[in-house]
Amino acid sequence: MKFRNFPMVPRVVFGRGSFNQINEILAPKRKSDKAPFIYIIDAVFEGNNWLLDRIDLKFNDKIIFQSAKEEPKTIRVDELRDQIVAEFDDLPSGIIGIGGGTMLDYAKAVALMLTNPGSSADYQGWDLVKNQGIYHVGIPTISGTGAEVSRTTVLTGPVKKLGMNSDYTPFDQVVLDPELTAGVPTNQWFYTGMDCYIHCIESLTGTYLNTFSESYGEKSLELCREVYLEKEERDEDAQNKLMMASWHGGMSIAYSQVGVAHAMSYGLSYLLGTKHGVGNCIVFDQLEEFYPDGVKEFKQMVKRHNIDIPQGLCANLTDKEFDTMIDVALSLVPLWENALGKDWQQTITRKKLRTMYEKM
Ligand code: NAD
Ligand code: ZN
Repeated sequence: MKFRNFPMVPRVVFGRGSFNQINEILAPKRKSDKAPFIYIIDAVFEGNNWLLDRIDLKFNDKIIFQSAKEEPKTIRVDELRDQIVAEFDDLPSGIIGIGGGTMLDYAKAVALMLTNPGSSADYQGWDLVKNQGIYHVGIPTISGTGAEVSRTTVLTGPVKKLGMNSDYTPFDQVVLDPELTAGVPTNQWFYTGMDCYIHCIESLTGTYLNTFSESYGEKSLELCREVYLEKEERDEDAQNKLMMASWHGGMSIAYSQVGVAHAMSYGLSYLLGTKHGVGNCIVFDQLEEFYPDGVKEFKQMVKRHNIDIPQGLCANLTDKEFDTMIDVALSLVPLWENALGKDWQQTITRKKLRTMYEKM
């Protein structure tokens, strides 16, 4: 048995208003007045002075507003890297991602691609990244994915949707300021928060479970339940709790694995561009057979918050399209193995997956 020796985020600041410390945190990391800090910020914050006025741009520091309408693509990561290399003589002092999982993943990937040659598509997989990236900072503005703690940056490339999983991927610094999540629209708050809830269920019921994962998963699940089943409103306490649920959920899957919902949701996302949070909800809604208690509780949460879970996505797909989704889902072997054990192929046949996708 070989135990994984995995890296963690070495520095984190937590607290309402902690974003105010960003300039102080970055200052010692500036390499020279020619080496800028590059901020990759969700375009939803363009013109938002409440947030932007607190960033003290110096010398040639730059903000790039990036849309989060689509999930990160390798082609866009390469483009951002090329743009930065063309514009500045020196390597940046750091990359700061401000936004949801989409921005956090862009920031991680661009930081790695500034010191590794070729296309980010060459590094989709496990431990393919050769060189340490440049200093990178993650500042989540929506809670749930765990991208702020994870060792991956999930990218859609020309042939697959797969992360750049490496010891160099985790952030050097994370700023957890729950105030930044106040403006998230309700449906999105639910979908991304359920990503965290589903991480917990998949981790806690999986065959890879160990005490390390369990201790984080249980805490995260408890916080999710408080936020989505007990609290009357999305108040400050709920924002704080969901941000820490996301962190713990990410820590839980770091040392175990996700399961059926994630495997099938990757298929939807690859073929239809369905975003991760909502895709997970669409799939999880149909997984009573695999996660009876979790799905029951999930449905309660959907009802309580009056959330719309899209239906009928797969109604008009061709055989070839179903096959593409099934190929993507089946390729995620560790997820199936975690969910169902070594003999997972006895339950999960192409026909079975087709029947399940047809319900979505
Ligand atoms: P997101 O970043 O895609 O954002 C979702 C929506 O919320 C966007 O429209 C965005 O503009 C908006 N938004 C974000 N913050 C807001 C705010 N404060 N106010 C108003 N609107 C706001 O959402 P996400 O669910 O956090 O991230 C999904 C992505 O994360 C996917 O690409 C997925 O693959 C990735 N992911 C990565 C990991 C990892 O470990 N690296 C884990 C899970 C998911
Ligand atoms: Zn997820």
